[in-house]
Amino acid sequence: MNKENIQAFGNLVERADRILIISHTRPDGDAVGSLIGLGLIFEELGKKVNLVLEDGVPKVFHHLPSYDRVFREAAGVYDLIVVVDCSDIDRIGNVLDDYGEPDVNIDHHPTNTCFAGLNLVQETAVATVEIIYDLAVALSLPLNQSIAEVFLTGLLTDSLGFRTSNTTPKALRIAAELQELGADLPFLYRKAMGEKSLEAVKYWGLGLSRINLEDRLVWTSLSLEDRKKVDYPGRDDADLINLLASIKETDISLVFVEQKNGTVKVSWRARPGFDVSKTALEFGGGGHKPAAGAEIKGSLEQVQEDVIKATRHALNGTG
Ligand code: AMP
Ligand code: MN
Ligand code: MN
Repeated sequence: MNKENIQAFGNLVERADRILIISHTRPDGDAVGSLIGLGLIFEELGKKVNLVLEDGVPKVFHHLPSYDRVFREAAGVYDLIVVVDCSDIDRIGNVLDDYGEPDVNIDHHPTNTCFAGLNLVQETAVATVEIIYDLAVALSLPLNQSIAEVFLTGLLTDSLGFRTSNTTPKALRIAAELQELGADLPFLYRKAMGEKSLEAVKYWGLGLSRINLEDRLVWTSLSLEDRKKVDYPGRDDADLINLLASIKETDISLVFVEQKNGTVKVSWRARPGFDVSKTALEFGGGGHKPAAGAEIKGSLEQVQEDVIKATRHALNGTG
């Protein structure tokens, strides 16, 4: 991030009074952490802040400060609209339908389309919270224990507990700073990643019962019926993809999750040396080389067939 961009962000914030912050549908810890953390910083500065996630905050983050202050819709007039952790504008859902283009886009996805007036995109950041933390330090914005807790959650969840190949010494240094601000790392890890609901584990069971492995590609699917059968409340894969990715005999893993709106959510994970973001991009999604996703129109069967074919192509091309 260059100095001009940092200063431009500082100027926009200084001039704004009513600020809207948004992140992506099916929010993860980085989306929630970036949203709440930046919101709390702005509030410390005396701004009026609205936090919006179309899908709300998932239960697994209900231990975080101010999680109950996140709304599902924007309302009113804003001087500044900031989108965090989204590589393209479609990922926020319909929140901005009655509003114009966002003013600021803060993100770390290499597939970011730079959709805002000011784009603060840094691919080397492990999580978007890292970029926001850097902005806060560079502009001497206030930090406190609550902000540290949500930021550390973003770092932990996007790096799978500092295990992903993009984990840097810098991310670990920031984590240490956040601990010193009072964030309890083992507690935050356990709540966001170390605990699963019984429903989630049963849901995994259904997905695992029909797992496929062929030439170093592993995949499975979760249907709407599965979700109903075990009462799983989310519309995600309950992180089943990360379990599949741990299977030794694979290079690329895939999970297909059927959605109510006639689309299928696809998650890709790849070992170092492979790039699944390009395949995800082909299907209108995005992400990083080792982890990508997309929402694709079509039936579970059709989407599986198309995506496996394209992914197989990528696996053979780069493997
Ligand atoms: P997921 O499979 O949802 O855990 O996402 C893996 C990575 O891909 C994350 O970095 C996501 O932000 C990104 N991603 C997931 N879905 C999409 C999408 N529809 N468009 C762009 N990026 C996505
Ligand atoms: Mn995210
Ligand atoms: Mn992220």
